[in-house]
Amino acid sequence: MYDVVVIGAGVIGCAIARRLSAYKVRVAVLEAGADVAMGASRANSAIVHAGYDCEPGTAMARVNVAGNAMFDEWCRELSVPLKRIGSLVLAFDEADMAQVRKLYDNGMKNGVPGLEILTREQTLEKQPGLADSVVGALWAPTGAITCPYEMTIACAENAHDNGVEFYFDFSAEKITTLRDAVEVENDKNCIFRSRYVVNAAGVHADEISRLMGDDSFTIKGRKGEYVLLDRAASAFVQRVVFQAPGPLGKGVLVSPTVDGNAFVGPTAVDDSGKEDTSVSQSGIDALRAAGAKSMPGVPFGRPITSFAGIRAVPSTGDFILGRSQVNPRLIQAAGISSPGLSSAPAIAQETVEALRQAGLQLIPRGDYDPIRKKEKPFREMSMQEREAAIAKDARYGRIICRCETVTEAEIVRAIERTLGAPTLDGVKRRTRAGMGRCQGGFCAPRVMELIAKHGGVPMEKITKNGGCSRLIVGRTRQEEK
Ligand SMILES: Cc1cc2nc3c(=O)[nH]c(=O)nc-3n(C[C@H](O)[C@H](O)[C@H](O)COP(=O)(O)OP(=O)(O)OC[C@H]3O[C@@H](n4cnc5c(N)ncnc54)[C@H](O)[C@@H]3O)c2cc1C
Repeated sequence: MYDVVVIGAGVIGCAIARRLSAYKVRVAVLEAGADVAMGASRANSAIVHAGYDCEPGTAMARVNVAGNAMFDEWCRELSVPLKRIGSLVLAFDEADMAQVRKLYDNGMKNGVPGLEILTREQTLEKQPGLADSVVGALWAPTGAITCPYEMTIACAENAHDNGVEFYFDFSAEKITTLRDAVEVENDKNCIFRSRYVVNAAGVHADEISRLMGDDSFTIKGRKGEYVLLDRAASAFVQRVVFQAPGPLGKGVLVSPTVDGNAFVGPTAVDDSGKEDTSVSQSGIDALRAAGAKSMPGVPFGRPITSFAGIRAVPSTGDFILGRSQVNPRLIQAAGISSPGLSSAPAIAQETVEALRQAGLQLIPRGDYDPIRKKEKPFREMSMQEREAAIAKDARYGRIICRCETVTEAEIVRAIERTLGAPTLDGVKRRTRAGMGRCQGGFCAPRVMELIAKHGGVPMEKITKNGGCSRLIVGRTRQEEK
């Protein structure tokens, strides 16, 4: 019997689990995928939005502005990178300037600090290399960049260290509400019984809600495609550079990443379905054109990879938070489209409060430790630090991923730290092995050998990212049996 079962291990479910782990409650997180951050939380723009584009008075506006302010503390405690580089919304004509003024007014109403409307010259001082057609911009100094999957992994690891249980490859298919509890069941008749359910199932949150009798909203997918650029491109862009928004959201942006790359994206393909993360040539072409409209000097023709994420767009037009009106044992964290990453710390705080108001007794744990210990990556170490690390553990001397300078020691630690069965992408997200120019062309087989040796997964069963994504089908040489 659990006090709380959280369905979904994206950034929202994991942030809620982390927040709950400060109290004496028994919590399980159930995740359909093989790892945390398998949905929108692994493929988004990684921006901690300032909060000027949400309609004033909405839940979105409230948790975005509050969440942004909480990010410094969360990132410090969890050793997650955060760079407060500020964001610009470019205007190319008078109609765009009207949009910029509207965003400014929204931001003032939402309580966003430090907003300014800039002239062309002031905009160029913040970000050189903008197109000649830029006439001005909105400047938001609290806009920041982070790493969304590292935030998710960090929340999960810290929650786990503080007693939260995680179960992977568990897809909630049937939910029965009893008089004093809820039973959550998968298709293998495995049942978790809990006093409360938190619905953090991303694009599938409407289905979970319906299983518990609440059909007050639906969710549609809105795909966003990206092109990730070579490190050389990051020399051209120092800020998050948006364009004035369109009807489908914040529009295409150009931004550096916290790891030293740059990207352009996302597109907005409405009603794209909930699972299709393919990237189209037309999407890539549209991104290049949109990127060049803002910053013509950026080498958009030097991509490393492309990817797509799916926004969970709710029929309500706003995040759905708090206790369900229909089922008192259901606490919603649903319809978390953008800016869900920015809002995650505040959504976690509000969800825990909703559980308290629903009757969950929350007694603080004396031994709660909010700090996630993370070792410095080898690529960031000084020569002296590297020598000391190799002297302590010779596996630091073996570089597995040459593009990103990732050592065997770091990969083995990541495999050992993974809460579910390790996968190739899971190692990539934890260490950056395979994230460089060759995209794992050289290191993938070596990482697989390490997963087999240290993660207890037979070579033939190792997957790229869970499910059916097996990487090899069998052995070709008999003597290796
Ligand atoms: C293109 C794009 C760009 C974005 N850019 C930004 C940005 O720059 N800044 C920002 O703040 N936000 C951004 N967002 C929004 C942000 O990514 C999301 O709001 C956030 O990741 C949502 O997290 P989540 O945990 O709700 O959902 P997810 O990360 O999708 O996690 C939901 C999880 O639930 C699991 N699940 C589903 N059904 C079941 C089931 N039946 N049983 C068990 N598990 C289940 C899924 O496997 C998944 O792992 C963007 C989103 C997209 C798609």
